[in-house]
Amino acid sequence: MKRRPLFAANWKMHKAPAQAADYVVQFWAAAEALVTKADIVLCAPFIDLETLRVELAPSRVRFGAQDCYWEASGAFTGEISAAMLAALGARYCIVGHSERRRLFGETDETVARKVAALLAVELTPIVCVGESLEEKQQGLTAARVTSQVQAGLGALSDEQRARVAIAYEPIWAIGTGLSDDPVTANATIAMIRGASGGLADARILYGGSMNADNAGSFCAQPEIDGGLVGGASLDPRGFLTLIMNGLKAAA
Ligand code: PEP
Repeated sequence: MKRRPLFAANWKMHKAPAQAADYVVQFWAAAEALVTKADIVLCAPFIDLETLRVELAPSRVRFGAQDCYWEASGAFTGEISAAMLAALGARYCIVGHSERRRLFGETDETVARKVAALLAVELTPIVCVGESLEEKQQGLTAARVTSQVQAGLGALSDEQRARVAIAYEPIWAIGTGLSDDPVTANATIAMIRGASGGLADARILYGGSMNADNAGSFCAQPEIDGGLVGGASLDPRGFLTLIMNGLKAAA
């Protein structure tokens, strides 16, 4: 079965609700024509999610969060649960982004808990894995990403694994303008798929300085099912062009 492409915007800590609404006005009608060929999701700061729920109501573009907590409710000041995201109508949630691992203490263990909580409420986790520059230089890419995937998805059944999306994001490529070589990224993604059972039907995305110019060369690779896009997703027209170029190359 051919996997359905997925393009996910990671807005990071950008856009207040008024800007999120303005983005959707410029984005959704054109995106609607692309949703027949790919899943498109805007992963936004928590404060934007209600705005996206309202503004995207007539659309098949989905919205999601960038993190969550695994308990459904309780005394966890400052946290938002997977169940709360589901109640709001979010469909996706990024988990284990390298910025959260590096700056906010995310671990393989907390990633696994969040993935399980998201699947339990029918959200799609986008699980981020990737090696540092040092690990790449030491030839440790395969070992690093394999251990992250095993730790994050290890307890899942094959049916659950097929519902997860993985984003392979070399840390040194995120926000630097230094994207990976598409053939190398494809080989790493093939390795991820081969090293863990049950991933034949799971979408595996590339992330790391993907833009409208290079999206085609990544999406032309057989193992790359789309992109997790940071900086280049902030402008609605630029993100639309990126998706169009990616889909053209994947066809
Ligand atoms: C990201 O934040 O997941 C990302 C890939 O960022 P950028 O596209 O800016 O490198």
